[in-house]
Amino acid sequence: MTFDELGLAPEVLKAVAETGYTEPTPIQAQAIPHVLAGRDVLGIAQTGTGKTASFTLPMIDKLSRGRARARMPRSLILEPTRELAAQVAENFETYGKYNKLSMALLIGGVSFGDQEKKLDRGVDVLIATPGRLLDHCGRGKVLLTGVQILVIDEADRMLDMGFIPDIEEICKKLPFTRQTLFFSATMPPEIQRLTDTFLHNPERIEVARASSTGATIKQVLIKTTRDGKRELLQKIIENENVKNAIIFCNRKRDVSVLERALSKSGLSAGAIHGDLDQATRTRTLDGFRKGTIRLLVASDVAARGLDIPDVSHVFNFDVPTHAEDYVHRIGRTGRAGKSGTAYTLATREDGKYLAAIEKLIGNPIPTEEAAVPEAEAAPAEAQIDAEGEEQKEPRRSRSRRGGRDRNKTAKEDVEVQTAEKAEKHDAPAEKQQQAKTEEKPSRRGSGRDRDDDRPVVGLGDHVPAFILRAVKLPKKTTKEADDELEQESEDA
Ligand code: AMP
Repeated sequence: MTFDELGLAPEVLKAVAETGYTEPTPIQAQAIPHVLAGRDVLGIAQTGTGKTASFTLPMIDKLSRGRARARMPRSLILEPTRELAAQVAENFETYGKYNKLSMALLIGGVSFGDQEKKLDRGVDVLIATPGRLLDHCGRGKVLLTGVQILVIDEADRMLDMGFIPDIEEICKKLPFTRQTLFFSATMPPEIQRLTDTFLHNPERIEVARASSTGATIKQVLIKTTRDGKRELLQKIIENENVKNAIIFCNRKRDVSVLERALSKSGLSAGAIHGDLDQATRTRTLDGFRKGTIRLLVASDVAARGLDIPDVSHVFNFDVPTHAEDYVHRIGRTGRAGKSGTAYTLATREDGKYLAAIEKLIGNPIPTEEAAVPEAEAAPAEAQIDAEGEEQKEPRRSRSRRGGRDRNKTAKEDVEVQTAEKAEKHDAPAEKQQQAKTEEKPSRRGSGRDRDDDRPVVGLGDHVPAFILRAVKLPKKTTKEADDELEQESEDA
C-alpha cells in the first residue's frame, strides 16, 4: 500500500514524500481513512509504530479547511510529557509545511507569556500536557468550546502518572460533538472505562503488542549489588564499544547523583528528569542527539517515547518496577534496524520485578557474569534509616569495609548516602505521585520530596554510635530547602 491510497490531500502527501517514507505503517494504513471520515478511533499501539503520523497527517488535512479564532483552538492533543508534546509539534511542522496551520505548545517549564500571545492570535492545533493546559484554562486564557478534534495520546501512561482526573476535567470543557482519537499501548480496565465514556462508536485498531521486544536488541542481565552497580556500569562503558547510551534510574535524585558521578570520572554525561527546567532538558537532549553528550542518565517519565534514532546501548541501572517500562526502555536502542545492547543491572532485591519482566517478554533475560567482581554481600551492621531508627540487616558501605576509596570525595559519599536514604522513601506505590509532580511543577511546587534530603549522619570510618543517632531538625520551608539544593548543585 502507498500513502496515495489513503485519501490525503496533495500538500500532505508532498510533505510525507519529502521525509522519504513511502509506505504507511499498519496503524497509519488503518487509522488515516477513518480519521478523514470523521470517525472516533481507538488505537492500541505503542510508540515506534508510527502512531503519531496516524493522527497528525489526517488532522492537517482536515484542519486546512477553516480558520482559528482567538483563544479558541480548533484541535487539542494531550500528551503525558513535555518531550512527547514537543515531538508531536515537530511532526506537525514536518508534515504541515505546505499547509498554513498555526500551532501552540502548552508545556510546563516554558513561560506563560509567549504561550498566551500565541493563543491570542488563534491556533488550529494546541498540543499540551494536562497540568499546564488546566493552568491556562484557570487563568481564562484558553476556551476549549471550539475544539473539533481531541487526541488523547499515551493514555495508559497518563493513568500511571495520575493524570486521568485532569483529563476528565478537560473533557468537561470540550464540546460534546467532536471527534476523539484515543491512543494507548495497553488497555487496563480504567482505560477501558475512559474509552467507553469519551469515544462514540470508535473504530478499534490494534497493532503489535506492547510486550514485544525488538529482535535487533541484545539483552544482558548482570547480577550485582547496590554498592557494586556504579563501578560495574563504568567498567562496561570502558570495556564495551559504547558509542552512546541512555542509562535509566528509577528515581529522579538517583539520576542526578549518577550523572554527577559519571561526569566526575571524566565521562561525557547529561541528566534528564522532570525537576529540571525545560531549557536544560531540551539542551541536554540536543547534545545527546548531536553526540556532544555520550551518556544520558534519565528517568522513565522524561525519556518515555523519545525518538533518538542511533543509541548503541541502554542500561537499566535500576530494574524498572513496572514491567512494561523495561520494554519501553530497551526499545530506545536497536531502532530502525540497527543493532543495540540493553544491560540490566539487578540486585537481590529485584527478584520479583525481574520475574514480572520475564513473564511479560516471554523469555528469561540472558545472564552474563559481571565483568568486574561483584561487591561482596554486606554483613549485618547497625544503620540508621531516615526516621532515625536502627535497621536489622542493613548494607554497609565499601568505604567502611576497606577504608575510604581514595578517588571518592566526602561529598560523593554524602550524595550516595542521601540517595540511598531516599530510596527507602520512594516505594513503587509512590511512583504515580512522583511522576505527576514531574510534569506539574507550576501547580505543585518544586515537586521535590524534602523529607528525603535530611542531613546525612555518619560520614567517615569508625563512626561512634552517638553520631549515628538521628538529629531532629525543625522542618524546613520549601524555600530554604530549594536554596539548599541549588547550593548543592552549584557546589557540584
Ligand atoms: P511514532 O510511533 O509516532 O513515535 O514513530 C516512530 C518513528 O517512526 C518516528 O521516527 C517516525 O518518524 C517513523 N515513521 C513514521 N511513519 C513512518 C513510515 N510510514 N515509515 C517509516 N517510518 C515512519
